[in-house]
Amino acid sequence: MALGPIDPEILRRLRTAIAKILSLPVRVLRPKPLPLHTYHVVRQQYHSTQLLAYLLAENNSEAFRILGITAVDLYIPIFTFVFGEAQLDGKAAIISVARPRGDTDGVMPPRQVYLRRLIQLSLHELGHTFGLGHCRQDACLMGFSANLEKLDRKKLAFCEYCQVLLADYLRDKGLIH
Ligand SMILES: [Zn+2]
Ligand SMILES: [Zn+2]
Repeated sequence: MALGPIDPEILRRLRTAIAKILSLPVRVLRPKPLPLHTYHVVRQQYHSTQLLAYLLAENNSEAFRILGITAVDLYIPIFTFVFGEAQLDGKAAIISVARPRGDTDGVMPPRQVYLRRLIQLSLHELGHTFGLGHCRQDACLMGFSANLEKLDRKKLAFCEYCQVLLADYLRDKGLIH
């Protein structure tokens, strides 16, 4: 679900990639406006945890999991920014498409690189909602990446270990057999 305006092509590409990699049905929900109370005037960023709560409150779909996608920059108080946030073993996750756009030199990455980063971040945060913690393998989607350089070194896949945990979790919830 888009929170504020988002390029529809990004939503389409994310839907396709997430459905393919998780083998689960994915729907794009109607967008919601960004709530102003989650905006921090001094930081000029949106509070990611508050946006997650908003996402849950506004969600009236039957979806098992819900992923918010926003163009604004996100923060939680202990970090200067976050790529996204998720409820561990919970219903909601959120990512921002803002940071993946910029490299350290401020040059826009090629479109494919940009979309790949968004897919990685979405799967990482959704992985947390499926109960997965951070993985020690840097190449795994569940590996923690503090910057884009690390993110770009990841594969577009969960490692074997995380795949097993994920499959167990989804089987447990009756989503796969
Ligand atoms: Zn994480
Ligand atoms: Zn892993």
